[in-house]
Amino acid sequence: MVQAMIPGYPRLGARRELKKALEQFWSGRITETELLEQASTLRKQRWQLQHQSGLTHIPSNDFSLYDHVLDTIALVGAVPRRYQWNGGLVDLHTYFAMARGMEKDMDQANAVPAMEMTKWFDTNYHYIVPEFEPGQAFHLASRKPVEEFLEAKALGIQTCPVLLGPLSFLLLGKTTQSGMNQLAPLDALLPVYEEILQALAQAGAEWVQIDEPCLVLDLDEATRAAYRSAYTRLAAQRAAQAPSLRILLATYFGDLRENLPLALQLPIDALHLDLVRAPEQLEEALAQAPSSLSLSLGLVDGRNIWLTDFEHVLTVASQAVQALGTERVLLGASCSLLHVPIDAMQETHLDEEMRSWLAFARQKVEEISLLTRALNEGRETIESALLANRQALESRRSSTRIHKMEVARDVQAITEQMAQRSQPYHVRKERQQAGLKLPLLPTTTLGSYPQTADVRAARAAYKSHKMDQNSYEAFLKQGIEEVIRFQEEAGLDMLVHGEVERGDMVEYFGEYLTGMLLTQHGWVQSYGSRAVRPPIIYGDVARPGQITVEWSRFAQSLTARPVRGMLTGPVTIMQWSFVRDDQPRSETCKQIALAIREEVLDLEAAGIRAIQIDEPALREGFPLHHADWQEYLSWAIFCFRLAANGVRDETQIHTHLCYSKFDDIVPEIASMDADVVLIEASRSQFDLLEALRAYRYPNGIGLGIYDVHSPHVPTTQDFDEKLRLVLQILPSEQLWVNPDCGLKTRKWEEVKPALKHMVSATQQVRSSL
Ligand code: GLN
Ligand code: ZN
Repeated sequence: MVQAMIPGYPRLGARRELKKALEQFWSGRITETELLEQASTLRKQRWQLQHQSGLTHIPSNDFSLYDHVLDTIALVGAVPRRYQWNGGLVDLHTYFAMARGMEKDMDQANAVPAMEMTKWFDTNYHYIVPEFEPGQAFHLASRKPVEEFLEAKALGIQTCPVLLGPLSFLLLGKTTQSGMNQLAPLDALLPVYEEILQALAQAGAEWVQIDEPCLVLDLDEATRAAYRSAYTRLAAQRAAQAPSLRILLATYFGDLRENLPLALQLPIDALHLDLVRAPEQLEEALAQAPSSLSLSLGLVDGRNIWLTDFEHVLTVASQAVQALGTERVLLGASCSLLHVPIDAMQETHLDEEMRSWLAFARQKVEEISLLTRALNEGRETIESALLANRQALESRRSSTRIHKMEVARDVQAITEQMAQRSQPYHVRKERQQAGLKLPLLPTTTLGSYPQTADVRAARAAYKSHKMDQNSYEAFLKQGIEEVIRFQEEAGLDMLVHGEVERGDMVEYFGEYLTGMLLTQHGWVQSYGSRAVRPPIIYGDVARPGQITVEWSRFAQSLTARPVRGMLTGPVTIMQWSFVRDDQPRSETCKQIALAIREEVLDLEAAGIRAIQIDEPALREGFPLHHADWQEYLSWAIFCFRLAANGVRDETQIHTHLCYSKFDDIVPEIASMDADVVLIEASRSQFDLLEALRAYRYPNGIGLGIYDVHSPHVPTTQDFDEKLRLVLQILPSEQLWVNPDCGLKTRKWEEVKPALKHMVSATQQVRSSL
């Protein structure tokens, strides 16, 4: 029998129940027991739903109170010393201390920040980065996988516990000493994995899923050898102590490429492949799989929200069944469903046609169960589902809601020249300066100002029709005016309008652009209790009318200083949305670029002299394999330039990049040809500065010298020192002075003094030049 599997399921609950429970627990409103009970109820619902839908290979331990990598840190007892854990089992207090930092004492002596967080591969999920010190010791310090397995078993459901594999765990971590080999802790780590596998076998587990997503990255020979020896060692131990336990090794998010022969030869029982991102790897896998190996076919897209093409899946899966036999095939989602929302049926504001095109986690589980039934019992058994599927796909393929002639025509008409400024930077710079008259080291901010509770309350009231349009607009105008007045008072040189009208920089544009829709409950976990609600790009994107122009015009009317227009760039809008799967991403990106370009030109026509186009997600769109970077960059940067470069020489284009490292893509940043790039550089400031100098980066550049992710208010002295440091490396004619990101999440009490200090430090430095 073909087995129906998923590598994991979303954790927060259909109504974000876990988020609420966690936040109540953190604020002391519910007890630990209550939190754990609610978590247990959620797990129970997930398992029962999957079981009733007909999944036969149901995961456990894919649930987490915060993050599965943090769970693994706890599992193997890799708690960094600063959390003062005293050994034994990792308690909840220590667990959340690693995730969120330790509260300050009255004297602030015991404040310990949270562990670092970073993006999980190319998703928008963030994991806690494990830390390994020289001589790192491990021991089994959590029974979570066993407890959850037994919890499901008590409900009469046999599950497949999921563990993050030892190699990926190490490769995703960081060492506390530079030069330390990332894999050095492997020998010490493996005995803990042996112990946990044995405990799971004893508890009655038949299968364990071990996730090794790092197998889809470029690996060196030493790492491949480590994979070989680690899995050989685990296999030997299993043969001796848990002979009936079988291992499903899961890979996802891409193709294994050079690592495929290695993965196929590992002593495991089944290998999961992402056949949505990398369908081509199936052929080689079928041809090369040893007869002891089953293949788990990730054919239902775990990264996107579209209805699955049943015929396509059945065709591919049948080939595998033909080659391997039903006993050696599993059918499932390409990756954990963590990355999609829970239930499309909750989107009651959408009409039925639109809803019929969507499949969230719940729907995907049903799809997988149906498709597996068709493979096992014959297509006839799902005849009506096949018909409904065909009809929904057909309506999507031909719908006029998706395909717009004008958009296709405009994309056709794109030329290289449209993406090119007419004059080189040095000419533009003079023309811009003639109008802007900025001092040396101009000071500015990134766009947003603190979004206080009353801003959020007003937006919510407006959205639920409790506040009418006029009152809401008046409220926003007042907010803009306050931000403008503050910036004048602080002495900033180039102002922004403050983004008070936007909740989220992508959702805001999604509301206005055609071809994009917003969901009501389509939350996807970002980290811990936090979730985002990505818009869905379902059709051709166009701009039916102006979006931001009125706000910018209003802001500019209040002041003689230049106010910068504020837009989100095409790559970021695409990257932070669910994207259509019926055309290449590059096509979708071009459509968005054209829409943003129109907005840019309208801002310019409205008298706005500087326009910022944010691309914080440029870096995270990078393909996982280095060899694919160039292709991505060529169209992604082209799309940015298409959006930006239709303006006159006098108009100054800014961009903002953040959330990642940039020192290795300085030439690409230069090719964006923005007049000013405002970069977050708090993490690797020195490397970036060096890289900019080495490349002789030509255009204007603002290196964020105020870390907006911290409540700390730097003094004038702090800013002065930072600025002088930067000036030792880069010339003052090129530099801007600014915070490293938007100020949305900060408090006014922090922002006001901090920006004043930033300005006075700049004045000090200017007068000493
Ligand atoms: N302009 C946006 C803001 O200031 C930029 C946010 C970001 O980079 N994430 O909020
Ligand atoms: Zn930013």
